[in-house]
Amino acid sequence: GGKGEIIQIHIGQAGVQIANACWELYCLEHGILSNGRLMSKPCDDSFLTFFEFSGHEPCVQPRLVMIDTEPTVIDEIRTGAYRNLFHPDTLITGKDDSGSNFARGYNLMASELLDRAMNAIRRVADRCRSLRGFLVFRAIGGGTGSGLGTRIMEKLVEDFGKKMTVIEFLVYPSPSISPVIVEPYNALLATHFSMDCADVSFIVDNEALYDICANTLNVPAPTYTNLNRIIGQVVAAFTATQRFSGQSVSFQELQTNLVPYPRIHYPLINYAPLVPVTHSQFVNMSTAQLTGQCFHMSNQMVRCNPAHGKYMACVLLYRGDVAPNEINSALENIKRAKSFKFVDWSPTGFKIGVSQMPPVYVPNGDLAPTSRACVAISNNTNIRIAWCRLVNKFDKLYQRRAFVYHYVGEGLEEGNFNEASENICQLVHDYLEVDASAPVSNRGSDRED
Ligand code: GDP
Repeated sequence: GGKGEIIQIHIGQAGVQIANACWELYCLEHGILSNGRLMSKPCDDSFLTFFEFSGHEPCVQPRLVMIDTEPTVIDEIRTGAYRNLFHPDTLITGKDDSGSNFARGYNLMASELLDRAMNAIRRVADRCRSLRGFLVFRAIGGGTGSGLGTRIMEKLVEDFGKKMTVIEFLVYPSPSISPVIVEPYNALLATHFSMDCADVSFIVDNEALYDICANTLNVPAPTYTNLNRIIGQVVAAFTATQRFSGQSVSFQELQTNLVPYPRIHYPLINYAPLVPVTHSQFVNMSTAQLTGQCFHMSNQMVRCNPAHGKYMACVLLYRGDVAPNEINSALENIKRAKSFKFVDWSPTGFKIGVSQMPPVYVPNGDLAPTSRACVAISNNTNIRIAWCRLVNKFDKLYQRRAFVYHYVGEGLEEGNFNEASENICQLVHDYLEVDASAPVSNRGSDRED
């Protein structure tokens, strides 16, 4: 596309099932039928960010690779309504389950499957004119997304270099959604081993998503499909300025603005409006209201309280008919709020992106259709709470060495558990340090409070 291409990589059950939601929306947004056919002659080349011509014009295929250690989840795609959209070479499956075990995904399954996955990724990348980066989707609580996913992250950096932006969406484990006891192990091990590979990682907490569905959207018994559709809508809004015309924020700018230190790369991602489809007739949210709502805790994809932390940076990505003057006045209001604190070395700057393309909605979805939407991405120190929660659960298990032999039996060492726990504790500490940070040395003297 005019803006360069982005490749999506979906790993493991969660990663692949999220693909369903993402690509269903992308197709609707770009006027692409479920068999990959462009509905009409495209009025611009915005679809080329995520799609390429398949060789059977006017059909296109997604720039993606899906990978799973076992075939059942991807087989559903191979036989489902979108089976002709995806090129078979981009759907990679093994024959064996990773058994919710990071070590299995990382060591055992890795070799052959990893080669096939990387070959598939390279082929898709070779067909890009100016590849801008990768979006990786995986859960960190299972075995495949966490273990094999970490291998893929390592390889992406090795093969494509640090210049290529790698952004992750990580499904964060929630014991109320998944009963697997060892998820805290998998999640911390995956985070430890892949921390340096990602430029930006968004934590998507299943419990937060569940609450959004159950409480905000009045969905009686939310399923993964409901949760994934929220993720899809957020990702579509996040990538809108990468595709459609307007005022864009490049991946490079995103990273430069959001990430002051390489490890501090876990921003909050919030979305508005979240209005149940049953209330469609009442939705007429102004740009100002939308912006305000985007900073509500109930619109966060992860549970923590930003008012208890400090902001380092904010990027707001709007789509649809938004009024720039309303954005500015809404931002003034937000900055004035007592609960809104920036670290003293950051200029309280908001980076704004706007794409003219309004949000698009799936039929029979949970969200009320609206003409404008907003994603707020903010690096806030209180995200450390999410890591603390996980470390506590990890420690409870590890104090008794519960289930550790499963991991040692698959090639991990006990030392890796200690390292992982220490690394994430250090991350929590890093955030605390930012929270308490004094002004930086030479320009500090006049800024003390
Ligand atoms: P893997 O295939 O071994 O990586 O295992 P999963 O992807 O199933 O990872 C398990 C974690 O992902 C658990 O925390 C599940 O609650 C979560 N999970 C599984 N499927 C989905 C899904 O479709 N959507 C979401 N949001 N979470 C999922």
